[in-house]
Amino acid sequence: MTDEKDTTVQAAQTVTYDDAAEEAKYLERRQRQIAEDQGKPIDPEAILEVRHLRKCFPLKKTLTGKVTQELIAVDDVSFKLKPGETLGIVGESGCGKTTMGRAILKLHKPSGGRIIFDGRDITDLTSSQMRQIRRQMQIIFQDPYSSLPPRSTVGGILSEPVLVHKIVPRDQVKDYVLELMDKCGLRDYYYERYPHEFSGGQRQRICIARALSVNPKLVVCDEPVSALDVSIQAQIINLLKRLQQSMNLTYIFISHDLSVVKFISDRIGVMYLGSMVEFGNKQDIFSHPLHPYTQALFSAIPQPDPDIKMNRIVLKGDIPSPANPPKGCRFHTRCPYATEICRHVTPEYREYEPEHFAACHLLERE
Ligand code: SF4
Repeated sequence: MTDEKDTTVQAAQTVTYDDAAEEAKYLERRQRQIAEDQGKPIDPEAILEVRHLRKCFPLKKTLTGKVTQELIAVDDVSFKLKPGETLGIVGESGCGKTTMGRAILKLHKPSGGRIIFDGRDITDLTSSQMRQIRRQMQIIFQDPYSSLPPRSTVGGILSEPVLVHKIVPRDQVKDYVLELMDKCGLRDYYYERYPHEFSGGQRQRICIARALSVNPKLVVCDEPVSALDVSIQAQIINLLKRLQQSMNLTYIFISHDLSVVKFISDRIGVMYLGSMVEFGNKQDIFSHPLHPYTQALFSAIPQPDPDIKMNRIVLKGDIPSPANPPKGCRFHTRCPYATEICRHVTPEYREYEPEHFAACHLLERE
């Protein structure tokens, strides 16, 4: 009698998962969600709406061109952004932050999902249709040394986009550029100088001025200060903030420096292995991060007060290859709370608090 009881208890405790079936269930759930979201009306308050964005790169192809292996760099990323806001994107190197930023600007063609910018679905627009939109979506690159043409003067670099997009009449271009240079903290006599004559910080100011020369609404800042000295970083961040206020710019600020992201962002998205694992307002994410990865990431932020004890959560192992991501929750190979379900079933990305989203089985149980 006792043996029979024990077997029943054991059977109740042992849950086995069929990975293929779980994957099929997850894909079905996701397709349903995508179909539901595609039918939703465009949010008139959002300048940018990203719905289930996906970007894959082929790794192997057959002779007929059929893709047999691909790298999923961005997988099912969704969020909304209002005009004038800054979204900070954080995560370790290789988590898909930059690819996501470029896919939003359509510098990489998205493999799936929708991008709605300023009330218009731009996902399937052709390059010529994108020309006008492109003016309103700009990017600032990480490396100010390689992103400026060495044979053009600062005046030439800044005048070109103004002329191409006919921002002001031709005879007013120089005055317009000089005013822009002044706004970005560049002296007027730099107009005739070449990029190699400037320091990293000044070059980044030129890059910022070039991005803003066409009056954009959205700017993707891809690690704009990580190649600069710490003292210069603060100046560039303050400049970006000032320009945001005066020009009502919306930023997507990609960085691995959490202190910088904390300072500049209104909302924060945390990415791991191509997926958004948590998204929310800065206050919510910093005061009570929901996802174990966010908790580990934020526990590493240095505290300026030596009396505050840091409870650092050290993650074991390296980030797995996006070409061969783990099954189930992608973070399970490094998560200190991983259980059996995490190894087999992909957690759903859900809104657990108002405007605070995360994907973790621990939260589903609470
Ligand atoms: Fe960790 Fe599991 Fe949550 Fe993934 S789903 S973060 S492995 S507890």
